[in-house]
Amino acid sequence: MGVTVTDSGMATHTTVRTAMSRAQLRLRGMRRLKGARRIVQLAFATWIVIAAVRNQTSPSGQSASLDALCPFGAVETLITWVTTGHLISKTHSSNLVLGLAVLVAVLLVGNVFCGWICPFGALQDALTWLRKKARLPQLAVPAGWDRWLRWGRFVVLGLVLYYSVSTAKLWFSDYDPYVTLFGLRWLFAFNASTMWISLALLAVVIGGSLVVDRFWCRYLCPLGGVFSIVGRFSLLRIRRSRRACTDCTVCDKVCPAGITPSKAKPFVSPDCVGCMDCVAACPVKGALRVEAPVLLGFPVLKEAERTTGRPRERVGAGSKDAS
Ligand code: SF4
Ligand code: SF4
Repeated sequence: MGVTVTDSGMATHTTVRTAMSRAQLRLRGMRRLKGARRIVQLAFATWIVIAAVRNQTSPSGQSASLDALCPFGAVETLITWVTTGHLISKTHSSNLVLGLAVLVAVLLVGNVFCGWICPFGALQDALTWLRKKARLPQLAVPAGWDRWLRWGRFVVLGLVLYYSVSTAKLWFSDYDPYVTLFGLRWLFAFNASTMWISLALLAVVIGGSLVVDRFWCRYLCPLGGVFSIVGRFSLLRIRRSRRACTDCTVCDKVCPAGITPSKAKPFVSPDCVGCMDCVAACPVKGALRVEAPVLLGFPVLKEAERTTGRPRERVGAGSKDAS
């Protein structure tokens, strides 16, 4: 790198050196973002585990149950609450407060709940990390299958709403793999005869998440289904600039939700879990960015008014190397 033969040769060396340092900077940015996300996920998962231990070890009713700390409880109880003024069993006003807070957050900044807060999302990220460490391949779900399977979230959501209203109970709690795992009944009050269905479902979801990143979020999570609808109206969303994008598909390769930011027209799919990995990984300046203002899903400014300029250097990192 230090040998200079001609002026043009020297220019080439300088360019290469600059490009490398920028690539390293980008990699460092990806690692920092991922590190920050892991810390936040771990903090919330730890809080939930502590709450579950307290709930399982203290006298009944003296500490909050996992059900009371879940924003999805708001969705489950909403229809009954609106039509009768009562909450379904095992839900509390805390569910409504949490549900409203998460709804406002999604409307303002997009679906950060799934990518940064949900302990079950963190678990699936951990399973992806394990799969990579074990050098196991990810199951490639054909695009057509993937599109249909994503409707599974709405099927589950429909079932949950129907049975929650008709039974006036937190019906899904007995099957929800999140409650099964983080509720810790398998540890403190194990009963195979009453728990075998929920444990079998949990095993299926964990197995699925080992071979498909964020399997539960992609195909089955009813709260993810709600966010997929609400996310269309988020004020802030990730937007791809068709002018700047070079179609390198680096962003697609790092996306845990299995969506394709490289094909966004211009906003990424509302199935996005808000991890920001694609934005950090994109090697082209301005090709992916979080943008506002956006009014009901439509950009206030047109692409031509906000051209971001020159592409950054191309660097060859096409893998999930920052994990
Ligand atoms: S990584 Fe950036 S440049 Fe490459 S396809 Fe995605 S948005 Fe376009
Ligand atoms: S589109 Fe980007 S921010 Fe959304 S889930 Fe995929 S990688 Fe994460």
